Amino acid sequence: MTTRFENGIVVTLGEKNRVLWNATIVTDGESIAALGDPAAMKQRYPSADAVDCSGKIILPGFICTHHHFYSTMARGMGIPGQPASNFVEILERLWWKLDRALDEEDILLSAQLPLIDCIRNGTTTVIDHHASPAMRDGSLDLIENAVRQAGIRASLCYEVSDRNIKRGGIAENKRFIKKVGKGDGQIAAMMGMHASFTLSDATIEECVDIAREAGVGCHIHVAEDAADREDSLTKYKMPTVNRLHKLGVTGEKAIFVHCVHIDEDEMDILAETGTIVVHNPESNMNNAVGVTPLLKLLKNGVLVGLGTDGMGSDMLVQMRCAYLLHRLANHNPRVAFTEAPQLLLQNNAAIAKRQFGLKLGEITEGHPADLAIIDYQPPTPLSEANFLGHLIFGLVDATVDTTVCKGKILMKGKQVLVMDEERIAARSRELAPQMWKRLQEL
Ligand SMILES: [Zn+2]
Repeated sequence: MTTRFENGIVVTLGEKNRVLWNATIVTDGESIAALGDPAAMKQRYPSADAVDCSGKIILPGFICTHHHFYSTMARGMGIPGQPASNFVEILERLWWKLDRALDEEDILLSAQLPLIDCIRNGTTTVIDHHASPAMRDGSLDLIENAVRQAGIRASLCYEVSDRNIKRGGIAENKRFIKKVGKGDGQIAAMMGMHASFTLSDATIEECVDIAREAGVGCHIHVAEDAADREDSLTKYKMPTVNRLHKLGVTGEKAIFVHCVHIDEDEMDILAETGTIVVHNPESNMNNAVGVTPLLKLLKNGVLVGLGTDGMGSDMLVQMRCAYLLHRLANHNPRVAFTEAPQLLLQNNAAIAKRQFGLKLGEITEGHPADLAIIDYQPPTPLSEANFLGHLIFGLVDATVDTTVCKGKILMKGKQVLVMDEERIAARSRELAPQMWKRLQEL
């Protein structure tokens, strides 16, 4: 199927970002076939379907490098007693009960709703981290089916932890990694692990062996809270990153999520091993765990991406949160203007390339046809020179109108075409109170 996306402002991104007023993008099958002058494109592809993008700006689909689909049903849930007073209590009283209360249909609905949210926000690639100890085996297949139905791309993994049963979840990762193999460009697999403080050396070593043999990376939370660092220092006499490096977890495909409480030596290890760090500013603020040393990590040459940690699926909002947080945290109004967009626009694309083997994040001939088409009438001139100003202060509040992934239109005119949101949300509202009840009894 060939489609001409006409009359929009195209922002190509990539190494040499170009802002092209009134250019036409032609997609053919799953790829971008051409980009250029509207009349020439019409002449070259006369029988292609035409989609009018006037009054809109077209960017490559956004990428989220850390998400938790399974957190969906936490929204609006009350927890009896005093609010959790620290990070470990938040895990014990909320997340480690919620994941145990999820049944088969909850898992499916909990994936479908954020996937719809991804489509609504132009997010076309997600790296997810899943947990559901009571319904573990086969859970990644349920999510895979939902992802395929949604039509976006996702890398999936199951959170291994010694918290419920020793080495729980290893088999599910192993099975799914084998099933996915090298991947088909839509679904990829990683070895999921919770965090250093819930994993023994033996469990980590087993995970690393499986990941190495399959050529996939490990996806693990690292030093999110000071408690993770203290645990590692007390039990293993070394900081978290050192411990994980010693056990072989680091590497170019490995994703170390958060890295809030790390020192300079740990940063060096991350840089030397090419290990990926993913920053989740909203989540860190919500859990009051601290501020990732983002600017230092970038300065040291660490590849840092941007995720939501399950807080949502809107990547522009997350980007702006990173921008504001690091200005405030550094007491410096000169920083983060280029760095926050860099995480989202360049670094997330580089991370996705390592996981999917695809050149995402750039509108250019031959690249995957993943597009976010956003309502935007620039109130001031817009060019390559001032694009970031429009991104941070304008596009962040603009509405996505049309979302395209693998050349397929998933949403058009703000209507999600691939899933029945009303029915899925209604069913989720029906099941969530039952899940909350099971959770209270745990
Ligand atoms: Zn997380």
